Formats: sequence, structure tokens, C-alpha cells
Amino acid sequence: MFDLEKLVRPNIRSLKPYSSARSEFSGVASVFLDANENSFGSPLTKWYNRYPDPLQWELKRKIAGIKNVPAEGMLLGNGSDECIDLLIRAFCEPGIDRVLICPPTYGMYEVYAHINNVGVDEVPLRAADFQLDLEGIEGALTAATKIVFLCSPNNPTGNSLYREDIEVILNNFDGIVVVDEAYINYSRNRSFLTELKDYPNLVVLQTFSKAWGLAALRLGITYASAPIISVLNKIKPPYNINAATQELALKALDKLDEVNAMIRETVQERNTLLEKLSIVPGVQQIFPTDANFVLVRFTDATRVYEYLRDCGIIVRNRSNVLLCDDCLRITVGTPEQDQKLLNALKEYPNA
Ligand SMILES: *Cc1c(COP(=O)(O)O)cnc(C)c1O
Repeated sequence: MFDLEKLVRPNIRSLKPYSSARSEFSGVASVFLDANENSFGSPLTKWYNRYPDPLQWELKRKIAGIKNVPAEGMLLGNGSDECIDLLIRAFCEPGIDRVLICPPTYGMYEVYAHINNVGVDEVPLRAADFQLDLEGIEGALTAATKIVFLCSPNNPTGNSLYREDIEVILNNFDGIVVVDEAYINYSRNRSFLTELKDYPNLVVLQTFSKAWGLAALRLGITYASAPIISVLNKIKPPYNINAATQELALKALDKLDEVNAMIRETVQERNTLLEKLSIVPGVQQIFPTDANFVLVRFTDATRVYEYLRDCGIIVRNRSNVLLCDDCLRITVGTPEQDQKLLNALKEYPNA
């Protein structure tokens, strides 16, 4: 049985959160002298002298309308990286509790676990298809496991995890199951957002950094049940999303059509790139991808990496990552950028 009260760290359960000026009074008034802001103004946009809404309600309501989820079921983070950190800090007692990850996967789950002195258990994806090893996961889960991090589509492999496999974990593990959907917009698979109402232990992460094209703004989204979101709200920094980011994200949300057009373009260019890569000498294997990047196995990836770097083209060398030997992770570029990459690869001295 999933028991949120029991899952939350005792010190967090009993924590009395900081009460900011703006959270103690957020109504309408004509004179605000409660937050030691600069009453005379700001050298930039006029209202930048004021602290932003700590719970970002306007932005959340707008996202809620687009994503068809309740605004109370969202926590915005300074990038999804902050969301990952908050989840670990809320549920994992340092030195005692553990998280489970399935490498090769996004590195920040492990990094934030270690920063918080939380142990990490690893159950590698199956070598044959980069899918979950359900038996291995079942065997690795203990009473100390508080969070399982799943990434779908997965970084750096690019594939989506089987939906039924994720559901098996959601149904059988009484801790938190995080499904990181940073690349979901590029995938043909449905988001797990629609499952939130069925699984009290499900947390879905999305971000403005990829398909939305706003990596510089640092804005990530945690979707979960309202009770889980309340726990995270207790421990987040009061003003973690700055006013400029809130404002710009609101503007971006008006441009859904433009974003969808970029997603279509990216997917189309991805398919072109895959096709052209398949006939490049030295390319051993191209892994199926549902993301805006592709993992490619070369004959000698590090040499190719260094050659491309010397041509001024930077890709990600993943050859030292588990199950990714001799692999480079290549982000889908514009047609022009990809052509430069392909031209360079064509001239790679294959001796
Ligand atoms: C890029 C990426 C993110 C995004 O992180 P932000 O902090 O929101 O920029 C999250 N998860 C995965 C797997 C990623 O690849």
C-alpha cells in the first residue's frame, strides 16, 4: 500500500516551512511595505522590484489548460534538475534511504542522490533493446528504496520504455516512481500525465528546455498528486522561479503552434539524419530514437569525436558509459547543421 505520510522523511513531515512576505499576504492592496523591496523602483522593467508569485499560479493555470491537468498537481522548478533534487530531499533520508536507476540514463538522478548522501542502486537496461529489466528491478528493490527514476524517451539511448513495464513498476512498488518525459514531445508514445489520476505514486517530469526551446530560462515541471506537490512546496526555495522566466514562459505558451511546428520539423529532420547516417562508413549501429537526438555506434567513437571536434562540430561522446561503448550521442540539428556533420563524416580519414 502506498502511504505518502510514511514515505516522507520525518523531518520534512514535521517541518514548518518558511513563510515569505508574499505567501502571508497575496491579496490586493495599494501599499506593500512588507518585503523590504525597493519601493522606488527598478532600473529594468518597472515591476522587477517586486518578489514574484512564489507559487506561480498564473503560469501554472496556463500550463494546466494546455496539458489538461490541475494546477494544484504541479510544481515548477528551476529546471527539472531542481525537481529531481526536491524529490530526493523530500523522500530519502541521507545515509539510509536509496534510489534506483536504470543506466545508461540521465546522469543527474545519480548526482543529486550523491549530493544528498543517498545511496544509488543500479539495474542496467537490457543490453539487447535498452528496455527495463523487470526481474532485476524486482530483485533490487528493498525497504530502503524510496524512488525509482525512469526516463522515457531515455537519454542517452533515445528509445521509449515499454508502457506496460512502467505500469508493472507503478503497480508493484509502493515508493515514488518518477517518469522523466523531457523528450516526450518528440515521441509517438502517449505521456504518462493521463495516468496520474490512477497512480498515487506516479511523478511525471517535463521541461521547457527541449521541445519548447527555452533551456536558458531554466523551467521544469513536476506533475503529481496534490498531496505529493504539497510536500515539495514545503521544501522548495520560496521564489525559485524568477519573474522574468514566469513572464517569458507565459508568452511562449501563446505560441503553441510555433512550438508544434518546430517539433514536426525536428522529427522530420531526425528521420532524414538517420537515413543519411546509415550509409556513412564507420557507422556500426544506429539506435532507434523517439527523441531529438540519436545514439550512434562507430568503429572508433573517440577518434570520430576528436575528428569532429577539430572540424568545429561538437557531439556528445558516450563511449565510456555503460552499454554505450563506441557510441556518440548526436543532437538533431537544422538541415544545414546536419549537412555539415554528414559532410565532415564523409571526409573522415578511414585509415
Ligand atoms: C535535458 C533533460 C532534462 C532537462 O533538464 P532541465 O533542468 O529542465 O534543463 C531532464 N531530464 C532529462 C532526461 C534530460 O535529458
